Amino acid sequence: MARRRQLYEGKAKILFEGPEPGTLVQYFKDDATAGNGSKKGIITGKGVLNNRISEYIMLRLQEVGIPTHFIRRINMREQLIREVEIIPLEIVIRNVAAGSIAKRLGIPEGTRLPRSIVEYYYKNDSLGDPMVAEEHITAFGWASTHDMDDMVAIALRVNDFLCGLFAGVGIVLIDFKLEFGRLWEDEEMRIILADEISPDNCRLWDAKTNEKLDKDRFRRDMGRVEEAYQEVARRLGILPEAGNGDMKGSEMMQ
Ligand code: 5GP
Repeated sequence: MARRRQLYEGKAKILFEGPEPGTLVQYFKDDATAGNGSKKGIITGKGVLNNRISEYIMLRLQEVGIPTHFIRRINMREQLIREVEIIPLEIVIRNVAAGSIAKRLGIPEGTRLPRSIVEYYYKNDSLGDPMVAEEHITAFGWASTHDMDDMVAIALRVNDFLCGLFAGVGIVLIDFKLEFGRLWEDEEMRIILADEISPDNCRLWDAKTNEKLDKDRFRRDMGRVEEAYQEVARRLGILPEAGNGDMKGSEMMQ
């Protein structure tokens, strides 16, 4: 990796100064955490797969006019992104009950929700990313009502688009988490999609068998985690079809 200034290290990614002002380099690690960092591990090849999966999804979203921070992939583990002012919120969209909503409201996992549900969490590790209402968000100034309208509108478009994209490859999009940033151009500010979209922050179930193809395999010690991420990449057409001997998918991708 070329020498450049590291700006931030998160649980799964590192941000470096970019080659031009207003750009950053996003580096994808193999590190995995769950339970707000209480469980730690390495998923070999995860960074390479997430870099490719997120690139693919961000490009498809851009094609339908959804603004994102993605500029281009640089290499196996790095992508060039626009520098934004990150809004300290996690926007979660749910189509089917799983994870925290299943636990919190006592809904059996796998129950289709009456409609897509949008939830907000305050991004704060020391507080364990607590769920918040729009009232908290606007009262504490994390985002304005106008920012919220923009984020929810984009999140619902992303959901519609990704539900279709994944349905086309035999996967149900159960839920996912998005992060947004503010991009300043001259005096104008717009809200764009940031972070990544990958099996790290989406729940993806096989449409026929309900097999989990996402980070829940790590969170719940189910095994075959890298294989699940590879399967998502393969179905999206990013990895060659199976049957390439003993060469691992993540090693084949340049
Ligand atoms: P839940 O609230 O059920 O734990 O998560 C809902 C969805 O958002 C899941 O797809 C999960 O992967 C994603 N998600 C929620 N919080 C986080 C987080 O802090 N990190 C990541 N990677 N994903 C998250």
